[in-house]
Amino acid sequence: MSTEETVEEVQCCCSHDEAQETIDPAPQPLIVEEEEVNNGKKKVKIAVVGCSHGEMDAIYETMAMIEEKKGYKFDLLICCGDYQAVRNHGDLPHMSIPPKYRSLQTFYKYYSGEKKAPVLTLFIGGNHEASGFLCELPNGGWVAPNIFYMGFANCIQFAGLRIAGLSGIYSHGDVDFSHYERPAFAERDVKSAYHVRNVDMFRLRQLKAANNDKLSNPVDIMLSHDWPGGIPDFGDSAWLFKKKDRFKEDHKSGKLGNPALMKLIYDCRPRYYLAAHLHIKFAALVPHKGSGSERPQPTRFLSLDKPIPGREFMQALEINVASDAKMELSYDPEWLAILKNTDLLTTADKTKIVLPDRIGSVPCVYERKDFRPTAEELEEIAKLGDLTIKTDTFKQTAPPLKEDTPEAKNVPPSAYYRNPQSAEFCQWLGIRDLNYLLVEKSSDYVGIPFYMMPDSDETESKPNQDDVDFGEDDFIIDRGHGSEEPEAKKSRLEENKEEEEEEGQSEDVVAPE
Ligand code: 5GP
Ligand code: MN
Repeated sequence: MSTEETVEEVQCCCSHDEAQETIDPAPQPLIVEEEEVNNGKKKVKIAVVGCSHGEMDAIYETMAMIEEKKGYKFDLLICCGDYQAVRNHGDLPHMSIPPKYRSLQTFYKYYSGEKKAPVLTLFIGGNHEASGFLCELPNGGWVAPNIFYMGFANCIQFAGLRIAGLSGIYSHGDVDFSHYERPAFAERDVKSAYHVRNVDMFRLRQLKAANNDKLSNPVDIMLSHDWPGGIPDFGDSAWLFKKKDRFKEDHKSGKLGNPALMKLIYDCRPRYYLAAHLHIKFAALVPHKGSGSERPQPTRFLSLDKPIPGREFMQALEINVASDAKMELSYDPEWLAILKNTDLLTTADKTKIVLPDRIGSVPCVYERKDFRPTAEELEEIAKLGDLTIKTDTFKQTAPPLKEDTPEAKNVPPSAYYRNPQSAEFCQWLGIRDLNYLLVEKSSDYVGIPFYMMPDSDETESKPNQDDVDFGEDDFIIDRGHGSEEPEAKKSRLEENKEEEEEEGQSEDVVAPE
């Protein structure tokens, strides 16, 4: 028996008083029949958005509008980067964005507790992020109650669906490096901080099926901010290049998107692939090898626009899950095993990482090349017990902003913090804690997390300082580092027209060197 999963497009709530742009309808998402998952009748309802650009209020408003119209509630919101988890004005200098677009937007209210995300929200990073905050959570974690960041790379489960994600965008010059960046960001580190790394894509490729498994789709949903290079060939590229003429040349010369991601699609065969960044809705269908009907399901690619009026920035997906599936996040046992197996690749030193599957000029220094978990390694993970991701581990590290007053702007760039979620996760799994390694590099600009400060609201849950095994001299009060003051903010929405003119001229849009 087969069922059709529902894919439905939604436009912005149009509550903004901006001139609407008329666009031709995009090609309809490609819908294919698929085998019913686990014989279940239950459908999980997921809202997907392209770039968020800090417009959490508008996104949740749009979702509420759809919920009312449809008479159902979403179970999950997935945001495909440029999320802008800006906690206060001190985070703005850590976001690579022209000063005129530096705006707090709305996330800070969800961080401070003034608002609560009405639906479980999952996001990956893009190229406009509060990078200092995100690099507190290399393996992911809660950035606010009910809002979960995937980390540099991750695979987690929701209602039994395996969701893998890669944060950042591709830049050839940085892809071989370790994740060494942290506040205070030196020189161009504020840009390289959001560039994807081969080590993360290598880890994700270990999610591929067993050698004798030619039919499965090991991953249900895969997320990246920029597009897999080559993806236009699997959709209506003529339509795309008509809409965005500069894409044609870039695509032809291999500059459009991340050139390593098609391999990830072929290795992990995700049923859905969701992306953003190029600010246009585009669907494609990537078939997988097989003979006749004996083949894995094709990968349905969908990239969405940004949340401005009249643009197709949100999509509702309904996916079958087991009837007893729980609407909660849990760690993926294979991914946990992969993290353990590849722990030797984690370093905070600025260095190029030689990967175990690297062939050619660099000699292979690893005995093992295949880091897919063995049965024994998965047994070790099983000993960890319940893999449900706890929902109450969020802690405020930077001070929350209660009110956006003119004085609130006069703060130095945020410090770097030891995030207790990273510490707890890495200790539990028995892997290196990159957040700790980054703190250890230097005590400069390392701050005392807000939740440990006497004026934090969290008096009851505040740990005793002696109980926190962070070493003796990890915390030095932030001295600030410079007096860069965020420039006068204009809302990103108001500035959209200007941005459109600048599109494609970003420094990140570079050819593989
Ligand atoms: P941002 O990440 O700054 O929000 O937006 C990225 C903008 O740059 C989008 O409008 C997108 O169309 C454009 N862009 C991103 N990558 C490329 C590329 O490789 N080629 C071209 N021509 N434009 C790009
Ligand atoms: Mn982007």
